Amino acid sequence: MEKVHVEVNRCKGCGLCVEFCPRHCLELAAELNAIGYHPARNHDAEKCTSCALCADMCPEGAITIHRKKRSKSA
Ligand code: SF4
Ligand code: SF4
Repeated sequence: MEKVHVEVNRCKGCGLCVEFCPRHCLELAAELNAIGYHPARNHDAEKCTSCALCADMCPEGAITIHRKKRSKSA
């Protein structure tokens, strides 16, 4: 499952998430979304730590973070 989900057509391409990602794994796409902005996308999912800073920064609430559930030890 992807760690960071950007709701593409909600994104206004402000670039805040790209700027603040400490792992530099976000970028703005070359193509436009349905409302005429270049949406953010996670181009390097391997580096993402699911820290959620990008989701906290997004003024549009367009980013959702998926974290793996920790397995319980016996
Ligand atoms: S969750 Fe953290 S590491 Fe992953 S894309 Fe967002 S800001 Fe970057
Ligand atoms: S902070 Fe939100 S609106 Fe701005 S580029 Fe990132 S996903 Fe899009």
